[in-house]
Amino acid sequence: MHLKRIRDWILDCVFPVSCIACNAPKHTMTNPDGFVCSACLANISSHQWLFCPVCNTKLAGFAQCPTHRGPMRFLGVASSYQNNLLKHLIWRYKYEFCEPLARPLGAMLAEYFIKICKPYCDAHAPEWIITTIPLSHKRMRWRGFNQGALLAQEASQRVNIPYAPMLSRMHFRKPQMELATKTEREQNIRGAFAVRRDCAIQHKRIIIVDDIATSGATLVEASRILKLAGAKEIIGLVLARNSSA
Ligand SMILES: [Zn+2]
Ligand SMILES: [Zn+2]
Repeated sequence: MHLKRIRDWILDCVFPVSCIACNAPKHTMTNPDGFVCSACLANISSHQWLFCPVCNTKLAGFAQCPTHRGPMRFLGVASSYQNNLLKHLIWRYKYEFCEPLARPLGAMLAEYFIKICKPYCDAHAPEWIITTIPLSHKRMRWRGFNQGALLAQEASQRVNIPYAPMLSRMHFRKPQMELATKTEREQNIRGAFAVRRDCAIQHKRIIIVDDIATSGATLVEASRILKLAGAKEIIGLVLARNSSA
């Protein structure tokens, strides 16, 4: 890759001069996080429902999917992956390593959570805790940050629910994105996680935050392990779902 392009990307990330979507100069941007102006962020409309983590069906209120009563009760999906701006922001965040985008994206997650998930969580407020999917060491070295963990921490601060890493990654598997079928993904991820020894999971209700869900296999496997370790209940929260991947 051309060095100048790399330098421009880095500068753009650290000192954005304009909205990365519409190029409005920064001084006209009302969003204090920078990077994306408020007007562009407002164009990413947020979902009004919860979804089944397995079949992606919209759920009626907080009811679990009648077909898939697995370890994850429901999945909150903040917005649609069909939204080109959101897709672009997630791409820059994950693959162009634009780490500060965790702030506006985390804010988006928190806003959806407060509106759609929080009324459910309020009943047992002190028992909830936010966690994330751990990355393999290889991925972590490559990206330099865990995109899910940063989102989880941003959301945690904004929704006032504590964050704790709870899982560790056992071995390097193939990235789920590289596998075509749901069965392959389920097999690939099986046994990929273990519970960290330093955290209390018994009787907790856990919100697993990640950037994107695809087949849902990763979230369901993480939920299975947390349930085995004594968690009372698990729900998921992601920015978007890429069902076509
Ligand atoms: Zn803009
Ligand atoms: Zn379902």
